[in-house]
Amino acid sequence: MSVALNGVPVKEEIEKVMPPEDILAKKPVVMVECFQNIPCDPCAASCPFGAILPFEDINDLPAVDYDKCTGCGICVTSCPGLAIFVLDMNYSDEEALIKLPYEMLPLPQKGEMVSGLDREGHKVAEVKVDKVTKTKNKTYLISIVVPKELALIIRNIRVEDKTNG
Ligand code: SF4
Ligand code: SF4
Repeated sequence: MSVALNGVPVKEEIEKVMPPEDILAKKPVVMVECFQNIPCDPCAASCPFGAILPFEDINDLPAVDYDKCTGCGICVTSCPGLAIFVLDMNYSDEEALIKLPYEMLPLPQKGEMVSGLDREGHKVAEVKVDKVTKTKNKTYLISIVVPKELALIIRNIRVEDKTNG
């Protein structure tokens, strides 16, 4: 199987971590885009519902029990690799909600339009910030509303710094 050499996952890798379609159709769930066997496991301990299964070896890749996942987003900000997202494909008829981790400044504001970026950092749309949640660590949980067809594309945001004019 081909794997990304530049840190950007390839299509086959993304397909492997896609939540099942029947689950996505009925509730918000986590999508864990973790592809490297590195010694890291805070995601499993962070989930209060046991939806990220305990690791047998700290180098394992995370495994998800989607039936247990509520889409709460707690695990999203536990991941030092910023590799975890929540997808709610039923936000509206045309839109999905994505919860993503964010550590940059300036912070977005609720209701603000920001740039939605793909996994390579390219802008693909203007998207609306639905919620900004402070957590107990330095990572914020940002909820954005995106066109449904971009729910598997957008994985970051860019907030334009308005202090420079
Ligand atoms: S979104 Fe919530 S329920 Fe789902 S895996 Fe993360 S912490 Fe657990
Ligand atoms: S915390 Fe993040 S980087 Fe670490 S194993 Fe879990 S998903 Fe992968």
